[in-house]
Amino acid sequence: APTVTVIGGGLAGCEAAWQSARRDVPVRLFDMKPHRFSPAHESPHLAELVCSNSLRSNDPHNAVGLLKEELRRLDSLIMRAADATAVPAGKALAVDRNRFAATITAAIEDHPLISVERKEITELAEPQPGNVVVLATGPLTSEPLAASLALLTGSKRLFFYDAIAPIVHHESLNLDVVYQKSRYEDGPGDYLNCPLDRDDYQRFITELGDATCMPLHDFEDIHYFEGCLPIEVIRSRGDDTLRFGPMKPVGLEDPRTGHTPYAVVQLRKENRQGTLYNLVGFQTKLTYPEQQRVFRLIPGLERAEFARYGSIHRNTFICAPEVLLPTLQVRQRPDLLISGQLSGVEGYVESTAMGLVAGINAARLVRGRPLLQPPPATALGALISHLRDSDPRYFQPSNVNFGLFPPWPKKVPRRLRGAVRAEQALQALDAWKAALEDAHSEGSGSC
Ligand code: FAD
Repeated sequence: APTVTVIGGGLAGCEAAWQSARRDVPVRLFDMKPHRFSPAHESPHLAELVCSNSLRSNDPHNAVGLLKEELRRLDSLIMRAADATAVPAGKALAVDRNRFAATITAAIEDHPLISVERKEITELAEPQPGNVVVLATGPLTSEPLAASLALLTGSKRLFFYDAIAPIVHHESLNLDVVYQKSRYEDGPGDYLNCPLDRDDYQRFITELGDATCMPLHDFEDIHYFEGCLPIEVIRSRGDDTLRFGPMKPVGLEDPRTGHTPYAVVQLRKENRQGTLYNLVGFQTKLTYPEQQRVFRLIPGLERAEFARYGSIHRNTFICAPEVLLPTLQVRQRPDLLISGQLSGVEGYVESTAMGLVAGINAARLVRGRPLLQPPPATALGALISHLRDSDPRYFQPSNVNFGLFPPWPKKVPRRLRGAVRAEQALQALDAWKAALEDAHSEGSGSC
């Protein structure tokens, strides 16, 4: 019988298996636990939360809260288990991690169409007729399988660390201060620049030098690449190192004054719509509150709203804009779908979301039905847009945030935006769901 094979029984893999089985497709799910554990996993259960027990905001007017609501409406197993095992956490959805994982493990193991095999998969097998594979082995995919994936994607399209620079919302920039200019180019150029005079620079490097960093996990013995050093490490090498590195002002004279500033922070467009900007070269291990405090000292960023903070992690992920189709199929191997953190999203709920899309599409693929993409107005669609539309040269995983949504066609007051986004997204999702369920009953012959 046509089968979906899921490799990896974490959040994405369990959700994918559940969604395929829900569409009457038999599933084989492999996980290497308990024979082998990644450096962060320790429970024999599937769907283990490796760190915090919080799935973040539950408010649908917030992007990750909205994503949860969309998942609920699509009968997500992970969300069902999270709601059933929730512990009090204010506006966040936090869970009892053992009950959460045990609930999901039982639902998967007891499902008549899912068989679970506890085994490490060490390579990606050749395509087999009637079989579709969902790869969901996560940020700590075991080495032999990662090597096999690198052979398929090319080693330049598989990464083992993310070195993420903070991203800010364009609408929160002080446009009286920042100016448009690309290095050495005449005319406005694609970059925005925050100019620092000598005093600004001194204040900035002093505060940066004193700022608190996040602790490293035991297994994160990071050997930084010289070309990708955290800014606090560059700063620790001397007072002028940043001014001759990522904050180099050469070729960036301010067209309004004709002067070249003492130092510059460059901002590069993060998406086609230009709603988000990346602080170029500002990958960092500073804690989130420290990033907000220290980076807001930069002229032009005084009121910057952060869509994502900088970070440096051990993380396996592919260069999705080059490797994947928006259906989550690998371009050169359409029988293989990649989901979860490995696909280039960041976070428990986002990984689950990509598992859900992969599970739906894998079931459709084995049945010979056209594959689907969630509408762009939804949080699910916004994550797919990130995987599809990001510039592959700078691709980094992302949490869901409203900056990934389509631009507003007309101005909407700030305080109403979350509510309007949620309303539009849930309307689009419900219409999509109706189409999905129709197509499902047609394909499966049930109902
Ligand atoms: P996972 O949940 O990691 O599942 C992958 C599964 O694949 C595992 O069960 C593993 O045993 C299995 N596997 C791996 N290789 C093989 C193989 N070769 N054969 C068979 N099975 C295999 N996100 C948050 O939102 N909040 C956090 O607090 C958070 N903390 C994190 C801390 C760490 C240390 C890391 C690494 C990541 C963290 N993340 C966090 C990011 C991410 O959202 C989670 O890692 C999330 O669990 C990813 O889901 P996933 O399903 O893609 O992978």
